[in-house]
Amino acid sequence: MDSLKKNNPVYSNTDTSKVNLSEEEWKKVLPEDVYYIARKKGTERPWTSPFETLKDKGTYYCAACGNALFISDTKFESGCGWPSFYQPISKGSVIYEPDNSHGMQRTEVMCGRCKSHLGHVFEDGPPPTGLRYCINGVVLDFKKAQEAEKNYKKSEP
Ligand SMILES: [Zn+2]
Repeated sequence: MDSLKKNNPVYSNTDTSKVNLSEEEWKKVLPEDVYYIARKKGTERPWTSPFETLKDKGTYYCAACGNALFISDTKFESGCGWPSFYQPISKGSVIYEPDNSHGMQRTEVMCGRCKSHLGHVFEDGPPPTGLRYCINGVVLDFKKAQEAEKNYKKSEP
């Protein structure tokens, strides 16, 4: 567990049980920028996330609870300024809700485990889904595929 997460008792890359914390508890366990987007449905400024152009192979997790959300194979260059994917890692990894705020009809994307706000999904993505999951990089954690492999090799005799 890295140091950023040591105050967060619900963070896990393996536990899939639903997380239900009060807003007050979230405020205590999340860094300020993550809290603002995940719990206040904020949006980071476009082109500010290092993940936007990242091409490394690996898995993207929810920064609030550690739930696996997307894999790098489904990431694409959308040019919209936010990390973009055409498909979540599994059906239940994200949940959806209609969002009619700001005079627009959009579909909000939330973490399937902790219901944190992640971003929105639009129907102008590439094949095979035609979907564009436009996700705030602040609420993503990235783990490189090679690191997992390295750990695996280390444990061999
Ligand atoms: Zn989550």
